Amino acid sequence: MHLSRKIHLTAALSVIAASLSFASPIAAAAAPAPTPSHVTAQLPNTYDIQVGDVRVTALSDGSVPQDLHQLLHRTTNAHTDELIALNLQTNPVEASLNAFLLRLPGRLVLVDTGSGQFFGPGNGGKLLDALARVGVQPDQVSDVLITHAHDDHSGGLVKDGKRVFLNATVHVGKADVDFFFDNANQARTGYDKSYFEIAQATLKPYLDAGKVKTFTGKQEILPGVTGEIHTGHTPGSAFYTLESRGERLIFVGDIVHVAAVQFPDPTVTITYDLDEDGAVRVRAQTFAALAQSRDLIAVPHLPFPGLGHVRTRQGGGYDWVPVTYTDRAGQ
Ligand SMILES: [Zn+2]
Repeated sequence: MHLSRKIHLTAALSVIAASLSFASPIAAAAAPAPTPSHVTAQLPNTYDIQVGDVRVTALSDGSVPQDLHQLLHRTTNAHTDELIALNLQTNPVEASLNAFLLRLPGRLVLVDTGSGQFFGPGNGGKLLDALARVGVQPDQVSDVLITHAHDDHSGGLVKDGKRVFLNATVHVGKADVDFFFDNANQARTGYDKSYFEIAQATLKPYLDAGKVKTFTGKQEILPGVTGEIHTGHTPGSAFYTLESRGERLIFVGDIVHVAAVQFPDPTVTITYDLDEDGAVRVRAQTFAALAQSRDLIAVPHLPFPGLGHVRTRQGGGYDWVPVTYTDRAGQ
């Protein structure tokens, strides 16, 4: 995903407009009742689950508004509005920015890093606070698994242009590095220039330090963690599968951005997809497989903690079934 400043501004203006109409009784009387703003700053969130022997912590980097009328492709605004209305939502909708921490034997592993400084003050960039809440300092992170080199996944790798995770090796699909480090691909594809600038800005400090390991196809990345490339959203988009004691969690990256729309209608794409046909193909194949396997998945932009299952929907398409909130002492 990528967030333009324009969308921020539009959202900010609509919040200001809503508060202004509340402040003026004349405007309030003349205009229809404004939709209450639900924009609320929360403390940095964390959520723990156990996968076999491995404790996995979802970490919130924040959330951002998404104007679906501008962002979604292969749909109409009426179709989009109809689907989000079924979830009692209106446009724009909020997208979470989720990252995940894995406590493997002898290793602390992050999957994605949120947006860092790239969405501006107050928007995203809460990952390090969330990590601190669970007692982890950046220099303790041994590995970072990047699902793809978009700003809201690799953005937290750097602060003021310097590496945040000084002792970490960054694992990323080779095709993303090849694609985003060749500016000729920008002219060839017309893909937003900022994608290239930010991918380079976030990965180059680690490349220069000899701290990047790229991979292709399907490979064991760390003991118990397999990476597999699923080209579509970006050329090097990767799934990471954690397996421990017969239990499994799959980090699927950006195969879905808007639950209310893309589960019932997986053919709908988003402007962040480089290859829209490929993105639809990956989403359709993955949803079908997950509805059969019932594997637990971790999703960056579904509502925090972004953990849940995919279920076949009566009448076609799929449903998102979030994990059941659990907070109690162990056995
Ligand atoms: Zn993305």
